[in-house]
Amino acid sequence: MTFREELLEIITEEQLLCQEPMKCHTTFRVGGPARYYLRPDVRQLPRVLEVCRSHEAPVFIIGNGSNLLVSDRGLPGVVVEVSQQISKVRREGSRIFAQAGAGLARVASEAAKVSLSGLAFASGIPGTVGGAVLMNAGAYGGEMKDVVETVTVLTEEGEQRSFQRDELEFAYRHSRIQETGGVILEATFLLEPGDSGEISRQMEELRQKRLEKQPLEYPSAGSTFKRPEGYFAGKLIEDAGLRGFRLGDAQVSEKHCGFVINRGAATASQIWQLMCTVQERVYERSGVRLEPEVRLLGDF
Ligand SMILES: Cc1cc2nc3c(=O)[nH]c(=O)nc-3n(C[C@H](O)[C@H](O)[C@H](O)COP(=O)(O)OP(=O)(O)OC[C@H]3O[C@@H](n4cnc5c(N)ncnc54)[C@H](O)[C@@H]3O)c2cc1C
Repeated sequence: MTFREELLEIITEEQLLCQEPMKCHTTFRVGGPARYYLRPDVRQLPRVLEVCRSHEAPVFIIGNGSNLLVSDRGLPGVVVEVSQQISKVRREGSRIFAQAGAGLARVASEAAKVSLSGLAFASGIPGTVGGAVLMNAGAYGGEMKDVVETVTVLTEEGEQRSFQRDELEFAYRHSRIQETGGVILEATFLLEPGDSGEISRQMEELRQKRLEKQPLEYPSAGSTFKRPEGYFAGKLIEDAGLRGFRLGDAQVSEKHCGFVINRGAATASQIWQLMCTVQERVYERSGVRLEPEVRLLGDF
């Protein structure tokens, strides 16, 4: 049996896309075709990964594609999407159990509805629970590590394992799963009782702040670079004279220098070249090496 035939023993034709343009699955709206793009549900996922392993096909996991820059040349292997098909959310007392593909905004708003506080900071982050745990996503003083209690992972060896928060080695935009690999299946959030109206007000306040400060009208992947200790990436970029600096349709946002935006027809390669130029100029000007927060997939 061919690779495709083996996959079709597990998933349907609708769940298996070929030569799928990654620009349709990333918030930067760039990226060439993925050889295979799969959307298994949680029961199919282990078998799909097993088939990929047996064919030695490289696998990339994606959630909402909101922290990714995918090469214009595309991806030769298999992209496995963990979002719509794996996105149940349930609550037990002060705990929310969210499957990895659930959107953070949805989980935050469901928590607010049942008067559980702690996730307001995450309500404007356009990622999934899996992507946010992997990245230890954070905003406005909160981070995933403050609210995650346990995470269930399908390991590279195909075993399901639970990790407690202190085993996950959370640090700024880092979790242990970045090194170990594996697919995050579910996270449990341990929250505090709060007031539903107050939580919703807090979420609305943060939403307004984002609208005011961030170039949400353009495709991007959020903050392009990590915050270097003791500095703000946006300020360093501005000080290097790069506000509005452009390469084709890739641009350092005029509204927020920490964001590289796609003004419409940017390519991944233009975005990457722009990022390299920003790194060089900031280093020349201030001696600080900016490190990308955005994760690169494919050849650059
Ligand atoms: C407008 C905008 C604003 C943003 N604001 C913030 C912010 O305030 N704070 C912040 O931290 N980030 C922010 N981001 C970046 C991004 O939303 C976060 O990093 C988010 O957590 C990524 O989630 P995702 O599901 O989109 O992951 P993806 O971009 O799909 O993937 C990111 C990484 O996670 C891995 N991954 C995804 N799902 C899984 C899984 N189930 N198992 C294992 N690995 C997985 C991928 O392989 C990849 O390495 C912003 C982005 C945008 C576009």
